Amino acid sequence: MLKPDAIENGHMGKIIDMIIGAGFTIKAMKYTRLTTEQAQKFYEVHAERPFYGELVEYMTSGPIVAAILDKDNAVADFRALIGATDPAEAAEGTIRKAYAENKGRNAVHGSDSDENAQIEGEFHFSSSEIF
Ligand code: ATP
Ligand code: MG
Repeated sequence: MLKPDAIENGHMGKIIDMIIGAGFTIKAMKYTRLTTEQAQKFYEVHAERPFYGELVEYMTSGPIVAAILDKDNAVADFRALIGATDPAEAAEGTIRKAYAENKGRNAVHGSDSDENAQIEGEFHFSSSEIF
């Protein structure tokens, strides 16, 4: 996902360009806004964390871009491309280093396993929207 701060700050096109430039193929893509229920569900693993309320509020604050990406070793390679959660700790050349505001408003989300990528893809897209 491209998160609301990335869209708000005008970085949507540049981030998509970095993703394609890094060798990812786009299997599905959607410009939409999450409801509170959707954001709560998407980040339910963090429900007990102190930042959960803030995270849900932020993720529903404006439109996002959801996408399914394909590449060999996609999960690890995408996490390398986005960089550390906190942009202050993200490596040069990563999306978060270039475009994230801070640890909370950090521009992009990446799935953390093939299993979660499958679940999250199905969360955002129906089978007829995946190419
Ligand atoms: P994501 O799952 O969004 O790709 P991540 O895997 O790098 O990010 P997680 O630990 O899964 O990081 O946290 C999910 C999201 O919750 C972060 O991307 C960030 O937006 C928010 N978050 C994490 N830690 C904090 C924190 N300490 N304070 C505020 N927000 C946070
Ligand atoms: Mg995560």
